[in-house]
Amino acid sequence: MTEEKQRVKEGVRLIRWRMGHEKTRFADEFRIIPRSLKRLTITLFIVGQVAAQVAYFYGSKKDPLAAYVGVAAGGTLFIDLLLLLFGYVNRDAKRREMNSTLWTLLAIFVPYGIGLIVYFLRREPLPYNCPGCGAIVSARFNFCPGCKRDLRPCCPQCMREVRAGDNYCPYCAQELATIKSPPPEQKTGQAIVQPAE
Ligand SMILES: [Zn+2]
Ligand SMILES: [Zn+2]
Repeated sequence: MTEEKQRVKEGVRLIRWRMGHEKTRFADEFRIIPRSLKRLTITLFIVGQVAAQVAYFYGSKKDPLAAYVGVAAGGTLFIDLLLLLFGYVNRDAKRREMNSTLWTLLAIFVPYGIGLIVYFLRREPLPYNCPGCGAIVSARFNFCPGCKRDLRPCCPQCMREVRAGDNYCPYCAQELATIKSPPPEQKTGQAIVQPAE
């Protein structure tokens, strides 16, 4: 039960971390979709438009040409949108070091877009560079494996998570300077002052 609670808490923390740290811009996100897929969507749209003209030409001409073209445009744009979304999930999962094949298949085959929704809720935060040594670290890490830097510093007084650069705890005003980074040099004979528990 407590383990389950812990997992939920960690899940919520990761979602909040993602919202706080990942400033995504549509243009940047659109760029990660494979170019071949974008070309395919344009081709599909054009083929749809040509097919609509042909269907009108050989059809009974009961409906106006605009109706054919409109239906073709709506249908192909809908398929295009799905294709782009699946392509995005594939590339996005890969850069988040998730199982991209599995998530792409889930996004495609779980009906009503539920696979897509689950993906966007559950995706891992993007790896980032350790502010201490620049090594690529995961938002799940507590410490940097490269330089042992505390990646999730806590306020020593109220034990809530604080941001690395803050001087004071935003919750209880405890001074945080001591936990920002280890002092570069220790003077001999001087004990490192540990903040009171
Ligand atoms: Zn580091
Ligand atoms: Zn505090």
